[in-house]
Amino acid sequence: MEDYIVRATAGNGTIRAIAAVTTNMVKESQNTHGLSPLATAALGRTMTAAAIMSTMLKGEGDTITVQIKGDGPIGGIVVVSDSQANVKGYVHHPLVYLPLNSQGKFDVAGAVGKGYLNVIKDMGLKEPYIGYVDLVSGEIAEDITYYYAFSEQIPTVTSLGVLTNASEIVASAGGFILQLMPGADEETIAFIENKVNSIPSVTGLLSEGKLPEDILNILLSEKDLKIIDKKPCRYMCNCSRDRMERSIISLGKKEILDIVNTDHGAELQCHFCNKKYRFSEEDLLSLI
Ligand code: ZN
Repeated sequence: MEDYIVRATAGNGTIRAIAAVTTNMVKESQNTHGLSPLATAALGRTMTAAAIMSTMLKGEGDTITVQIKGDGPIGGIVVVSDSQANVKGYVHHPLVYLPLNSQGKFDVAGAVGKGYLNVIKDMGLKEPYIGYVDLVSGEIAEDITYYYAFSEQIPTVTSLGVLTNASEIVASAGGFILQLMPGADEETIAFIENKVNSIPSVTGLLSEGKLPEDILNILLSEKDLKIIDKKPCRYMCNCSRDRMERSIISLGKKEILDIVNTDHGAELQCHFCNKKYRFSEEDLLSLI
């Protein structure tokens, strides 16, 4: 099954609901980076969140970056999505390992530690929008919820999950975000709270074979759920030699000459897909 995202509204437009299945995307990140199961869970949750968040971008050329920096052994997580839900990401320490937590789940909070979460929305303007919050749990979903509440003043429920099988390969991944729009009454708020607390986890639902539409139905069928659209999402890196050249040019003439004189060339590796780009001495000199 292909990965995709479903957008919907409910409660007469007072609820925004978005759900996604991201199993292939997360599997691909695991293969690309050789991630441990714990790193897969941490990056997979963050990529799922970014894919869902990207559907709220307004412009076609807009991008969203979710960056998590904590003092735990994973070091940091960086995920970028464009408005078409082409998602790419990496973690600083892909082999991070910790015992399962007291609930028998991946200890993502332990891997992330204490720190902050950044959301950068690049909308092609001179200055991107940057939202910055301290991590409240390090489990990612709670941190995204807190980001929306604190930075964008939107009451939000976030649920993200990555399930791996006995051979430590991704079996299913996905999530949902529900948001209350202006005009949502107390009854709607209480309804959502009760509902979210009464349903199985996202990974539980996905492993039962539930699709994103089914999850939205389970959550909101009593609130006049209306599906808006369904669109694919995927793991994709858009790096190119041209982009790498531009990042070398941005170093400035002096720095480039230093590299030429000491290393006689350069090899740049993309953090997101590990592709290598080699620049000879002549290549570098031509960029000055
Ligand atoms: Zn790349």
